[in-house]
Amino acid sequence: MESHSPTIEPKVTSNIDEQFPLFSQLQSHEHEQIVVCSEPSVGLKAIIAIHDTTLGPALGGTRMWNYNNEQEAIRDVLRLSRGMTYKASISGLNLGGGKAVIIGDARVDKNEPLFRAFGRFIDSLGGRYITAEDVGIHVKDMEWVSMETKYVTGTPKATGGSGDPSPVTAYGVYVGMKAAAKKAYGSDSLEGKTIAIQGAGHVSSHLANHLADENAEIYICDIYEDKVNAVAAETGAEVVDPDSIYGLDVDIFSPCALGGVINDDTIPQLKCDIIAGAANNVLDDEEKHGNILLDKDLIYAPDYVINAGGLINVASELEGYNEERAHDKASRIYDTILDILNYSEENNMPTYAASNILAEKRIKNVGRIHKIYSSKSQFSGHIGDMYKAKR
Ligand code: NAD
Repeated sequence: MESHSPTIEPKVTSNIDEQFPLFSQLQSHEHEQIVVCSEPSVGLKAIIAIHDTTLGPALGGTRMWNYNNEQEAIRDVLRLSRGMTYKASISGLNLGGGKAVIIGDARVDKNEPLFRAFGRFIDSLGGRYITAEDVGIHVKDMEWVSMETKYVTGTPKATGGSGDPSPVTAYGVYVGMKAAAKKAYGSDSLEGKTIAIQGAGHVSSHLANHLADENAEIYICDIYEDKVNAVAAETGAEVVDPDSIYGLDVDIFSPCALGGVINDDTIPQLKCDIIAGAANNVLDDEEKHGNILLDKDLIYAPDYVINAGGLINVASELEGYNEERAHDKASRIYDTILDILNYSEENNMPTYAASNILAEKRIKNVGRIHKIYSSKSQFSGHIGDMYKAKR
């Protein structure tokens, strides 16, 4: 009897999206890997995304969120992990971009075995991904994760971690603001400058102290009276109504509360020369509003660059945490912001686009030198060294 081995004809398709939607999503922004973690006995449903590890291991926080469906969770983790690649690169860190999401309600679904199971999945990646806190995650959760893996940062100072990142984030925003002032006014002194801060939370309270020390004139708002009054009492800032913050006639607007605050409604109200604050995703529509700010000659310090102090702080844990060194590294945000603002001006492009280009350039250039053999690269030296220091 004649035997026919089955021949599999490759299916010719012009649309990879339809046949392999997940691969197509990964390939569209050059993600390396996605890891789906499941342990039904403890209710764990998590996804880890690693975007790019050219510069080093992927570091990025874990977010716990009640996503409506898997696609929403995948979209979020892919978007966030890519953002971390750019943030680490522009900040001069030897880190790649990664992020994780746990699907669940952070108020009711947390338990020790869930986080320990998650920690085991992180450990199985052998250091390709290092986690930290993000929305919905607290230090206690990270302590559970750290029972199962050493690839975790953002643990308490008492256990050798870096603790609350807000002071270093605020310091980075402060020096980034000074760099923007240097570009706008020719001097980086903030003495006598009028500065409107939106939000009186963790970062802005430290930021307001730096600004007060330099004798800036501060206006501040928050939706909670007790918070804003406390910062005002400490710094001499003037409390203003949250609705009036955009239209104040000031030199600098510092968004330190929410994302999306630079939008079609708020841009016409702005009277400032500079936007420089800690909040993530400040531009409602990056391309549209980035271009409008360029046309208006309004200097925007890109959010992921100026607020990188938090990442710089947790990254310092990998070398054995030292607060002074973390501050020292965060002070480089000054030069980075100036480089971006100059590049943006020379090439007449929005500052966020200038920043993306410079971040991509660094990844490309460092990637090129990886082809040169060295004994260090043979053992992925920099990762090993980090953990020798840590444990
Ligand atoms: P936080 O929650 O301590 O402070 C935010 C403050 O904004 C709160 O006091 C809140 O009441 C206030 N707020 C909310 N809505 C407001 C509104 N409409 N008008 C005025 N105030 C309002 O948060 P945080 O840790 O200080 O972070 C601030 C921002 O910086 C966030 O966008 C965060 O994602 C970003 N960020 C923080 C860090 C960090 O190290 N904490 C690092 C990077 C980026």
